[in-house]
Amino acid sequence: MTNTSKVITCKGAVCWGAGEDVRLEEIQVDPPKANEVRVKMICASICHSDITSIQGLLPYFHYPLALGHEGVGVVETVGDGVTNFKEGDMVIPTYIGECKECEHCISGKSNMCLTYPMRFTGLMPDNTSRMSCRGNTLYYCLTFGTWSEYTVIDVNYLVKVDPSMNPAHASFISCGFSTGYGAAWKEARVEKGSSVAVFGLGAVGLGAISGAKMMGASNIIGIDTNDMKREKGEAFGMTHFINPKDSEKSPSTLVKELSNGCGVDCSFECTGVGPLLTESLEATKLGSGKAISIGAGNEVTIPFGHGSLLFGRTLKGSIFGGLKAISDLSIMADKCQKQEFPLEELHTHEVQLGDINEAFEMLKQPSCVKIVIKM
Ligand SMILES: [Zn+2]
Ligand SMILES: [Zn+2]
Repeated sequence: MTNTSKVITCKGAVCWGAGEDVRLEEIQVDPPKANEVRVKMICASICHSDITSIQGLLPYFHYPLALGHEGVGVVETVGDGVTNFKEGDMVIPTYIGECKECEHCISGKSNMCLTYPMRFTGLMPDNTSRMSCRGNTLYYCLTFGTWSEYTVIDVNYLVKVDPSMNPAHASFISCGFSTGYGAAWKEARVEKGSSVAVFGLGAVGLGAISGAKMMGASNIIGIDTNDMKREKGEAFGMTHFINPKDSEKSPSTLVKELSNGCGVDCSFECTGVGPLLTESLEATKLGSGKAISIGAGNEVTIPFGHGSLLFGRTLKGSIFGGLKAISDLSIMADKCQKQEFPLEELHTHEVQLGDINEAFEMLKQPSCVKIVIKM
């Protein structure tokens, strides 16, 4: 171990139970064990799944919960056996690993590494936690908690990035934006000249638009009930905008009207709103259309229009947009450095960690896309 091996007492955002308020607490962050590093967070950001984790409507979270899964920081202490990270490295956490040796990592058919999988225990791989508050074990949101001044991360769930990277942008690509971008790039493999519909123009949907543009889609239709998203969508490459509130017709009908009456080649459902899953599939071409489900909603089970699926369409789920946690995320960081997408368009609000509860009011503002949490 290279640095102090002391427990650090610092500030962190904690949710004590499903549906309870978020509280800024004094928390204890242990030194890293073998194959772990302790990271001093520079900033974090809010992703839709954080709200889901606070509401506790899905069974993947454990409480008290150390919140947050998007963020960027600097390695502060290195645990035993760590060779690929050193103090001072700028890093972003990932909630899936990439061993490059398991069946999925080798085949390229899935980004769900079998050696370093997504973790639903809220604990480190050795089934213990490095964070606590007033003697209570804190559970992680998946593999770490980023809305705190320090966190400990297993090095298999960590990507090194260029220290000159804009920290807010580094945080944005750690989940939401990359999930959408990857869904168009890796999961759907959008074809040149094809047509695409994106349901929900938050950071994930704007990522899907950006990914579809990069892949050469010629017709990119964005659907959102907030008119302020039109300008955002256009900044990332959207060619048509639909606000379903302006029409009596269904969103899928409106998409078909903008795609020769037959629907798009591929659609992306980024909201998690139950009925939109059927709409997103129905908006695609009979026989060959493909819908990618990315948005995590509040319902474990949702009713689905089976007829839309029967006629030869494909419905596919996606985690982290099919991006491989290390290799593809490094490419995303590189694209970010080359300004291949206007991430500054996502950066609409900022809050200090100490004022974290103000963020939930900001989220209600129509102009809000991403909130950066500054440490
Ligand atoms: Zn693997
Ligand atoms: Zn996320």
